Amino acid sequence: MSTAPPAAAPLAVPMLDVNRENTRLADELNAAMAEVARSGAFVHGPACHRFEAEMAKYCGAEHAIGCASGSDAILLVLMALGIGPGDEVIVPSFTFFATASAVWRLGAKPVFADIVPDTFNLDPAQVVAKITSATKAIMPVHLFGQCANMGDLRQVSLAARGIPIIEDSCQAIGAEFRGVRTGAMGTAACFSFYPTKNLGGFGDGGLITTNDPELAAKLRVLRDHGQQPRYYHHFVGINSRLDALQAAVLSVKLAHLDDWADARQRHAQRYHDEFARRGLSADIVAPTAAKNCRHVWNQYTVRVKNGRRDALQKFLADRKIGSAIYYPVPLHLQECFAALGYEQGQLPKTEQACREVLSLPVYPELTADEQSTVIEAITEFCAAKNRAAA
Ligand SMILES: *Cc1c(COP(=O)(O)O)cnc(C)c1O
Repeated sequence: MSTAPPAAAPLAVPMLDVNRENTRLADELNAAMAEVARSGAFVHGPACHRFEAEMAKYCGAEHAIGCASGSDAILLVLMALGIGPGDEVIVPSFTFFATASAVWRLGAKPVFADIVPDTFNLDPAQVVAKITSATKAIMPVHLFGQCANMGDLRQVSLAARGIPIIEDSCQAIGAEFRGVRTGAMGTAACFSFYPTKNLGGFGDGGLITTNDPELAAKLRVLRDHGQQPRYYHHFVGINSRLDALQAAVLSVKLAHLDDWADARQRHAQRYHDEFARRGLSADIVAPTAAKNCRHVWNQYTVRVKNGRRDALQKFLADRKIGSAIYYPVPLHLQECFAALGYEQGQLPKTEQACREVLSLPVYPELTADEQSTVIEAITEFCAAKNRAAA
């Protein structure tokens, strides 16, 4: 009986490993958290104000307002704009649930528009087709770390009585559209610090940026039960705080965010080059990065052709390689939105993406050997299929 491990066992590659980033910064993070503990200022204290100021600067926006999550950031902006029953908000269907649920929660109607296949982002032409007299906002999502076509969307907004644009920037902190960073391209932008995002905290957290001072002031009051000063309630708000502990952790990490985005960009480039060099394009369509835009690669998402997406995911899982499907079911076909009356076939590009997409490991600390393991496995999968077909 041999006790030796199997020769050259391929590496297990996790989809994401937050411990690598956190371990490397452990001393700094512990010191920052200890400082908050010592200060006793856990709510809206100096650590929060510092982080809000840093975020405003990072995004090139005038104001930053912390809150409890990206989902709350979206909800708060819609509340601040007075959106409610009878109103419509145009959103993509190919996104995380929170983009549309916030609209629904306020009694307004999410109106789903289709995407541009190459970037997976909201198609401005589809938005035009959905505008009505009830449209109160357009909410593009900068999906997977890449900005939606904000130039065209802004034209659409201007042509339609200046309908506010709310950026869902939860996956795209630091992304740029033709030199302008997400956070100040619309009426407001919403960020998430959920641990899987490019700037991830030790739990939940969110933030809103805006250049509009009145909107910023209203958001500060709305996130604090609509009170100002305490116990004098102007509006019915919610309790949505960015904890000082989270803010302290996020301040430490924000200083590294651009280096991490560069690492993600290098990994994305290597996938792109290797898939091209190996001639896999009949099976694997690499993601497109729009010209003159900074993609921050929250996800590296390929399309797997020929109905083989689930087979590839299983093939990778058998080799202990992580991958993920964002998103398997489009929002317009979710059970909870059945009352809106959408049917299969109404947003064909979104539906096709849901059948084809697979996200691969792209976190900054992914090693060259790990990435080789992923690339080799995908190459093997494509070769096996092509042999079977021959
Ligand atoms: C993560 C995410 C949200 C919600 O953020 P939370 O902090 O998890 O509430 C909203 N929209 C998109 C596109 C997201 O990826």
